[in-house]
Amino acid sequence: PYDVLIVGGGPAGAAAAIYAARKGIRTGLVAERFGGQVMDTVGIENFISVPYTEGPKLAASLEQHVREYGVDIITDQRAAGIRRGELIELPLATGATLKSKAVILATGARWRELNVPGEAEYRTRGVAYCPHCDGPFFKGKKVAVVGGGNSGIEAAIDLAGIVEHVTVLEFADTLRADEVLQRKARSMGNIDIIMNAQTTEVLGDGSKVTGMQYTDRVSGDSKRLELAGIFVQIGLVPNTEFLRGSEVELTRSGEVVIDNRGATSMAGVFAAGDATTVPYKQIVISMGAGATAALGAFDHLIRAGS
Ligand code: FAD
Repeated sequence: PYDVLIVGGGPAGAAAAIYAARKGIRTGLVAERFGGQVMDTVGIENFISVPYTEGPKLAASLEQHVREYGVDIITDQRAAGIRRGELIELPLATGATLKSKAVILATGARWRELNVPGEAEYRTRGVAYCPHCDGPFFKGKKVAVVGGGNSGIEAAIDLAGIVEHVTVLEFADTLRADEVLQRKARSMGNIDIIMNAQTTEVLGDGSKVTGMQYTDRVSGDSKRLELAGIFVQIGLVPNTEFLRGSEVELTRSGEVVIDNRGATSMAGVFAAGDATTVPYKQIVISMGAGATAALGAFDHLIRAGS
């Protein structure tokens, strides 16, 4: 058995593994895919002290750093649940079970996708999901934000200060965003908001996005917008389905509830990164949270006398 078992190999899991292993305790890390969302990222310009890097390069450095500490890394394995036995037990999808005194959950999240033609093809070539990350790449250009909830309207306000023009497309006939955000968006001169708009296609020239097509759900007409970028803001889904029904408390949207040491509601189980209630989902934030959870888990182990 491990002293600390980390579930997830993204920035949060990697940071947790390094912080745990540096305490000289038996550390394991199980992940479906090392690197997590970072593997899907092209340019990264906000990883502090590194002015520019690319996802696969950062993921490779994360893995190399973790390997330097002799962490037992198990990849291509999916956790299927969590339960308490004599130790904490983590059943895997294959049927095997890993055991550990403490567990750190760092399974991240995934952006909800539009599922329309062109979206996958132009992902990272104009189709974006993170305004903090990719906004500056569209400086002086026209973009759309799909989704009129808080994250969509916040994205529009954020982007409006960088890009030439923002069109917000909302599927419903009203915006779900807080009134104060709607007021702010409407007061900005370069944001248009279109209601009852169903995105039907991402258009491109073979190498990058050139626009999008949507249906006006009232008139039934198909319309076209010329754009350089499309920010999809229809929700971030935590990868925590496997925790449902366990002792680990989740919010309604599936985020793992943690305290300021990364502890969950299940004794000995900690969590970090995009899978949790931590506000703002970013690489540096996830890494800090991973370190916090590992130190929290170490504190727990010394107090538990093991
Ligand atoms: P993740 O990176 O999501 O890693 C989760 C890990 O858990 C993975 O290893 C996964 O395989 C594993 N896993 C999931 N479920 C299971 C399971 N059941 N069993 C075992 N393993 C499991 N942030 C920035 O700061 N700057 C950027 O420029 C930036 N650009 C981005 C661009 C894109 C396209 C995307 C999608 C995100 C971007 N982000 C960026 C956000 C950033 O990538 C995330 O905030 C960060 O990766 C979260 O780290 P994490 O470790 O919590 O989760």
